[in-house]
Amino acid sequence: MANINDNYLKLAGSYLFRETARRRAAFIETHPEADVISLGIGDVTLPLPQACIQAMHKAVDEMASADTFRGYGPEQGYSFLVDKIIENNYKGLGIEADEVFVSDGAKSDCGNIQEIFSTDNTIAITDPVYPVYLDTNVMAGRTGTLQPDGRYQGVTYLACNAENNFCPELPEKPVDLIYLCCPNNPTGTTLTREQLKKWVDYALEHDSIILFDAAYNAYITEEDVPRTIFEIPEAKNCAIEFRSFSKTAGFTGTRCGYIVLPKTVTGKAADGSRQALNPLWNRRHTTKFNGTAYIIQRGAEAIFTPEGKAQV
Ligand SMILES: *Cc1c(COP(=O)(O)O)cnc(C)c1O
Repeated sequence: MANINDNYLKLAGSYLFRETARRRAAFIETHPEADVISLGIGDVTLPLPQACIQAMHKAVDEMASADTFRGYGPEQGYSFLVDKIIENNYKGLGIEADEVFVSDGAKSDCGNIQEIFSTDNTIAITDPVYPVYLDTNVMAGRTGTLQPDGRYQGVTYLACNAENNFCPELPEKPVDLIYLCCPNNPTGTTLTREQLKKWVDYALEHDSIILFDAAYNAYITEEDVPRTIFEIPEAKNCAIEFRSFSKTAGFTGTRCGYIVLPKTVTGKAADGSRQALNPLWNRRHTTKFNGTAYIIQRGAEAIFTPEGKAQV
């Protein structure tokens, strides 16, 4: 008999975004004069930068000719893109090419990363936040059941509300995996260098890993807000960063993102030894993923050209 993964039955009945859409529609119905700021699911509104379009057209033509055609590429991404990512987004931070994994987007990465961690780990998420972190951990069995208050047993929720200016406070009890979305979806909260350093210090002190979703990093304008968690040097021992071209360059339908996982980030094995996470993720990524399409990676590369940057 094929038994199912019962954890799926713990998931809240309707996907969060369907519920927010329903409530929004109901509210607008009864308050037609209201100017609603929706924190539900959205999408980008402009087409791709012209530089990306041109690069992708060229890549399509390459696919038509035997001497320029590309089949399977490196699962971790082509070096033409990885090198641009490092040069533009991690310059001077000591990130190496084999610490970057190009993917089909941050949603899959945020959801899949938990596979390399034991199901015994405890997790902390800010409240509210992008729901993928929670739901993927429910699926994996890292939570108890859904309670009447809409929260899962065993999850540490870090309140972000008007009282704390939507800025999460450190967990009271130690947790193993901490999801930080910065700038936060949906609140827009960012953490200054000083605030982020506190989280890194906390993670190092408690042997926790920070899963840092920087999908909106392109929207940061403040000088004292790090663009990447790796601007805090110690983060190279305790953090994994998720990036996406979706919100940066309108790639929501085109699909491209990446993970940065330094080789110095480690976790504990059952035998007590320290193990680097990078080779585990490399194994997972190359076993279950065959790389982002060549054409799309050429499109992403074009974001880093002078025209691409200007158009973004
Ligand atoms: C949109 C979004 C993602 C998903 O990005 P994709 O690369 O399109 O999968 C991940 N995290 C947050 C916080 C987002 O808002």
